[in-house]
Amino acid sequence: MIIQKIFKIILLYLIIYSLISPTIISATDFTTTPDASSDTLYVIITIDTEGFYGKHPLKNMIWGEVDNSGMQYGIPMIMDICDKHGVKATFFVDVYEYRLQGEEKMRNVCKYIKDRGFDAQLHTHPAVRPDPVKRPKVTKGMYNYDPHCWNKERMRDYDLENQSAILEEGKELLMKWIGEEPVAHRAGGYAANYDTLQALKENSIFVDSSMFYLHPHCDLNYPVLTHNKVVKYQNVIEVPVSVFERIRYLEVGSLRIKVGEDISKVDIDWNSLDELKTSLEAFKQHKVRTVTLFLHSYTFVKWDSDFSQFSIDQEDIEKFDQILDEIEKNPRIRVITMKEFYDLYQKDPKIFEGSDYIPEITVYDSYWQVMRKAINAAPESIKADIFISTNLVIYGVCTYLVMFGIKRYRRKYRRGKKA
Ligand SMILES: [Zn+2]
Repeated sequence: MIIQKIFKIILLYLIIYSLISPTIISATDFTTTPDASSDTLYVIITIDTEGFYGKHPLKNMIWGEVDNSGMQYGIPMIMDICDKHGVKATFFVDVYEYRLQGEEKMRNVCKYIKDRGFDAQLHTHPAVRPDPVKRPKVTKGMYNYDPHCWNKERMRDYDLENQSAILEEGKELLMKWIGEEPVAHRAGGYAANYDTLQALKENSIFVDSSMFYLHPHCDLNYPVLTHNKVVKYQNVIEVPVSVFERIRYLEVGSLRIKVGEDISKVDIDWNSLDELKTSLEAFKQHKVRTVTLFLHSYTFVKWDSDFSQFSIDQEDIEKFDQILDEIEKNPRIRVITMKEFYDLYQKDPKIFEGSDYIPEITVYDSYWQVMRKAINAAPESIKADIFISTNLVIYGVCTYLVMFGIKRYRRKYRRGKKA
């Protein structure tokens, strides 16, 4: 009887959950079929290089020094792993942080990138981003542009003239520090708009990589400039941040419940190794020509809620190593830097003529995986809150029923003994 009740409760839970989640369907597996074409997929590893948070942002989030071992888990380790696999990467450096870190220190970051044979390009966070703990607001004096507005954190917040001035300063800084002008740019938070492209053209920076389909900060979505395809807009070549659609299912036995979908970039931090591999395969199969493999300078480190404790993210270190291993083994994938992309494009833009396809990747999670993700997402997601609280109620009811059952059994047993 108790078992029947528990079964009923679980069934009720599944019915409630199916109402909350969009659909209950049996999903088809994402299968890849071999492609006869010999076209190459160009992977561009890009690392947004920046550090805003905590007491030692440069040390913790750019160099990645998080313990006393002398190891650097930031840009040096990213380069070590790239070198191990014989590839080079592009570091989009937020040069404007010299106001926070000091000019000498930011120059050293750029020099280090160049001296190790990697590609240093321009990343624009025109105002030093607010520190959620120490500096809740962007403060005046962190930046010089447009003094009438204090909270202009992103490129799209500035008019064309000011965006052009921001880019000009960044370009001059790179020239002064490493003797090279940037050929490529990525707006901080992907927050570019069509003025940004115009301002890039004015500054003779002809490659942009800020387009992030459906990202709330990216105004190149109005209208949508591109999804995954390289396009040219007023002489500026857009190499979009590569995206795929991720559809998640909760798998309980043969039942598959859709728990959500999102647009994900191809990012060591955002994706599992399986998602990285499957998406690369899908881009290749559907003739998308470039894929940006995304990292930050701080991808290999983790921190606590007030940025006081930093530690190593071993899982991401291994993931990066493993995906480069996969890439290295695949003769149809070639890794290039943004600088190499620009050279190749100037020689023959046809190389990069491909499709604009957005792959759909289906992910099946076990109950515990979904619960772990829900706990992580709980502070911001109402859906996750509902999922956790419904489960807590179920646990409570089940515990009560089990206790109740034990009590009854004991009573029966005692009565039986007495008789
Ligand atoms: Zn950034």
